[in-house]
Amino acid sequence: MPNTHMPTIKLFNTWTRKAEAFKSITEGEVGIYTCGPTVYHNAHIGNMRAFIFADVLRRTFDYAGYKVNHVMNITDVGHLTDDGDLGEDKMLVAMRREGLNAWDIAKKYTEVFFEHAAKLNIRKPDHVPCATDHIKEQIDMVQKLEEKGFTYKTSDGVYFDTSKIDDYGYLARLDIDGLQAGERVDMGEKKNLTDFALWKFSPKDAQRDMEWDSPWGVGFPGWHIECSAMSARYLGEHFDIHTGGIDHIPVHHTNEIAQSECAHGKKFVNYWMHVAFLNLKDGAKMSKSSGKFLTVDAFEDEGISPLAYRYLCLTTHYRMGMDFDWDSLKAAATGHRRLCERVQKLADGQSLDSVELSKAALAHKAKIDEALFDDLNTAKALGQVFTMLDADDVSGLEKAKLASLVDSIFCIDILSYAPPKADVPAEVQAMLEARNAARKDRDFAKADQLRDEITALGFVIEDTAQGSVVKRG
Ligand code: AMP
Ligand code: ZN
Repeated sequence: MPNTHMPTIKLFNTWTRKAEAFKSITEGEVGIYTCGPTVYHNAHIGNMRAFIFADVLRRTFDYAGYKVNHVMNITDVGHLTDDGDLGEDKMLVAMRREGLNAWDIAKKYTEVFFEHAAKLNIRKPDHVPCATDHIKEQIDMVQKLEEKGFTYKTSDGVYFDTSKIDDYGYLARLDIDGLQAGERVDMGEKKNLTDFALWKFSPKDAQRDMEWDSPWGVGFPGWHIECSAMSARYLGEHFDIHTGGIDHIPVHHTNEIAQSECAHGKKFVNYWMHVAFLNLKDGAKMSKSSGKFLTVDAFEDEGISPLAYRYLCLTTHYRMGMDFDWDSLKAAATGHRRLCERVQKLADGQSLDSVELSKAALAHKAKIDEALFDDLNTAKALGQVFTMLDADDVSGLEKAKLASLVDSIFCIDILSYAPPKADVPAEVQAMLEARNAARKDRDFAKADQLRDEITALGFVIEDTAQGSVVKRG
C-alpha cells in the first residue's frame, strides 16, 4: 500500500532531536530493531517499560496498516560490567551466583523473560535472534571492519578505532575532545577513550563456557557488534527504526552506528527512538547488576495484574521519566479495572464485529488516533477514550467497539479482563463469608458491622443475584 494512503505518524527522532513525520524505506512496510534483554538475570520492570514501549510502537504500525518486521535480539553472550569494556563479565557473575553454566543461565532467563513479556501482553517480535546463534555474522562484520582499516589489536582483543571517523558520537552529541581531556580513566591498551571491543580474547589460563574460534584467536564478541550484525541479517544494512532505553544513546547505539556505517558504507538507521527510565520513587536507579530491582512476579505476589503496570506505563509518555511506587500502581490497577468493567458492561457480551461506526463515533476515533500517531501519546489517547465513553453522541456498542479497536495497541484486555482473585486479600474474603453467614442467620447487626469493616479496608460489597461479591473500591 502506498505511503500516501497511510496516516501520518509523527515520531521523535533522537538523531535530529525533533518529532518527524515517519516515512518508510519501503512503502507500506516498516522494519524495527529493538535492543533486547541481557539474559544473565531477570528483566526488571524498568526493562519491561522499554519493551512495552517497543510493543506499543510495533502495534501502532500494525494498527495503521503497515506490514511490520520487528526484530529483537537476546544478549546471551554476556557482556562486560561497564560500557568502557572493563570489569567482570556479567554472565560469569551469574554463573557464580547460581552454580549453573553460561548456557543454562541464558536459557533460564530467556524463558523467564518471555513468560514475563507474555503477562504484559508484549507480542513476541517477528524475529528474536540470540547472539550465540549469530557468531559467524559478527566475525564477518569485524573482518570487514578490519579490511577497511577501522580496527586494531591489543593483548585482550580487537578494538574499533573511533578516531577514524569524523562524526563519531553525533547521536549523543558527544563532546569527544572534552571527554578525552576529562577525567583520567584506565584505558588499558585502548588508543582512544571511546574505542570499544569488537572481539575479546578468552583468558589464557581459563576456559569459558561460551567461546568461539576466530581469525584473531579464541574468544567471544563484544556487545555492540551483535546488534549491528543481527539487524543487518534480519532487516538489511539500512532500516527504518531502532529502539532502546536512553542509556543506550551515548555508548551502545553510538557504537552500533559507527561500526555498521563503516562496515556497510551507508546510513544505518533512519529513526532512533529512546524510552526514558523508570526509577524507584526515591530517584534510585533500578539495576540488574546491583540486584536491586522488581519484576512482574512482585506484582502478582501482591495480587496486582501485570496489565495494571502496562496501563500505568500507558499513562505516561514514553519520553518522560517515570517514578515507580506501589500507590501509583494500585491506583492504575483500579483505573484499569474500572475501564474494563465499564466497557464490558457496554458490550454486554455481544459481538462487536458487525457494529457500524457512525460519523460521531468516527470523529472520536480520529481524536484517539491523532494522539496515538503524535509520537505515541498513549496518555492523551487514553484521555480521549474516557471522553468518548462519557459522550452522549455515540451508542454503548459503538463505545465498546471504539475501545476494543484501540485495545489492539493498548493491549490491556479491555473486553476480557477479570481482576485476579488475589486482588481481594484472603482476610477480606473471609470477612465477606462471615457476613454472608450472619445474613443467613438473620444477624443483621453483625452483617452490617462486617460490611463497615470491609468498606473501611477499601473494598465494596456488591449484592448480586449470584450472591455477594467484594471488590476493591
Ligand atoms: P538490558 O537487559 O539491561 O540490556 O536492558 C534492556 C532494555 O531496557 C534496554 O533497552 C535498556 O535501555 C532498557 N532499560 C534498562 N533499565 C531501564 C529502566 N530503569 N527504565 C527503562 N528502561 C530501561
Ligand atoms: Zn543493541
